[in-house]
Amino acid sequence: MTRSSFSPEAFRSRFPLFAQPENRDLVYLDNAATTQKPAVVIDALAEFYLHSNANTHRSSHRLARRATAMVERVRAQAAGFLNAASPREVVFCRGATEALNLLAFSLCEELERGDEIVLSTIEHHANIVPWQMAAARRGLNLRYIPHTAGVPQFDRLGEVLGPRTRIVSLSGGSNALGLRPDLAGIRRQLRGYNLRWVVDAAQLAAHEPIDVQAIGCDFLVCSAHKFYGPTGIGLLYGREACLAGMVPWQGGGEMIAEVGLYQSQYAGLPHRFEAGTSSLAGIAALGATLEFLREQDRTAMAAHEQGLLARLHEGIAALPGLRLLSQPQHNLGVAAFAPEAGDASDLMHWLDGRDIAVRVGSHCAQPLLRAAGSGPTVRASLAAYNSYADVEALLVAVADYLQLDQSLASAAGGTCHWSRDSLGALQLERLAAQRSWQDRYRELLRWGKSISAKPEIRLPANLVRGCEADAWLVHREEGGRHYFAFDSDSRVVKGLAALLLSQVDGREAGEIRTRDLAGLFRELGLARHLSESRSNGFHALLQQIQALVSD
Ligand code: PLP
Repeated sequence: MTRSSFSPEAFRSRFPLFAQPENRDLVYLDNAATTQKPAVVIDALAEFYLHSNANTHRSSHRLARRATAMVERVRAQAAGFLNAASPREVVFCRGATEALNLLAFSLCEELERGDEIVLSTIEHHANIVPWQMAAARRGLNLRYIPHTAGVPQFDRLGEVLGPRTRIVSLSGGSNALGLRPDLAGIRRQLRGYNLRWVVDAAQLAAHEPIDVQAIGCDFLVCSAHKFYGPTGIGLLYGREACLAGMVPWQGGGEMIAEVGLYQSQYAGLPHRFEAGTSSLAGIAALGATLEFLREQDRTAMAAHEQGLLARLHEGIAALPGLRLLSQPQHNLGVAAFAPEAGDASDLMHWLDGRDIAVRVGSHCAQPLLRAAGSGPTVRASLAAYNSYADVEALLVAVADYLQLDQSLASAAGGTCHWSRDSLGALQLERLAAQRSWQDRYRELLRWGKSISAKPEIRLPANLVRGCEADAWLVHREEGGRHYFAFDSDSRVVKGLAALLLSQVDGREAGEIRTRDLAGLFRELGLARHLSESRSNGFHALLQQIQALVSD
């Protein structure tokens, strides 16, 4: 098939999820977590189960032979996708995480106490924790590339290399900031050292063609679901000479040549690293994914993504009240930002109310965010099916949120009481009467404004246990009636607390105990629309109220 130049609209039309009635307005910007799947990939999954489903034992019946041939055909395709020298260098695994665990186990088995592994602060937890586990098991030392506020100075890699360095395992692109290191620069610094270089290409493979020979690494890992493929299948590339010297990490069927009672002989490469039944339908769908990508003009795809990324950064940088953590240069497609005041989760919920899917949290990169002195960030991550309209929708929604936040903050006027908040004006009917979730959410945020700032109650003893956002609750009883005061940085949590307190404040214990407040939470549609962490926060607060009135 001849390559055509890239049309984002035509590309998007290949993804049936966007054509479903409930997704017509969806702005999907959570691609670093996982991408949507084109019809050819979804069809390939069904096709495998319809026509080829059998386990892959080489000398078996017709269907089994067919499945076996398919697996080896996709392996050859994957070798082409990575530009590996041979299909023997391609191991199927569940994804980047499993591949990194395999490497951490098998490579470290051969190391000696005191040997060193070099990592960076920008790594995904999947490229930190397996090495920590191996280091603890084998008495190895972890070293980190020098960094500035968590961002590794890759040009100073040489400072942490030494005669005991055996493994260097580094990101090919950060999921939290998008930062793409200069792999050629890393290669130059590694020259002359006797070590193994692992590239975590979980993000990289989604945005650039991979050429392991040009990169010059010994190992590279990636997950199909990040590049429009199915979940549950990934690739481990290993240079043949390196793989050949490694012990298998899991034992079982498929990875053996001969099994005795006390010893076994392992299969050849790469099967000795593939114990048990693989995700065969996943491999079939991976084959369809690789073919789909081969037909695309990937240079034009990347250029489209970079255009969106530049606009996203320009737009966010122009919004007052936001802190931008990512940079548009050397970035695979991520904008990371957080409101300067308040809770990033509130912003995420606001965006969700407009059907804009972004992610909030530490993005499996806690060491990076800690070193950056940052709390949770909002991450908008791009794929080639995103449009400039998607980016503008995000920017408008964020601007609206900041404006609302600003008006709520000035209305609160910094009042600071010990006394209870006046919640009498909060009418449940008014909240319930809001038809759309977005309007109900806006009303809830308004309710949150009734909860004034109370620095005095922000004491460890008053913390609401089980609530992810910091939240404080105090209580007193007068003449058999129970009174409460509450505070939190999160506007949503404040809104939920206002809802709860409006139902219990000033009432008697028996009345509070018998009110079905969890039922009210469901009836208002909050259980359906709010994230698990916010739902947990509501229930934690409810539990604490119940416990306080029972004491
Ligand atoms: N490495 C990076 C850079 C990632 O972004 C991810 C997933 O987000 C992983 C590793 C782990 O990938 P998976 O969850 O597919 O195993």
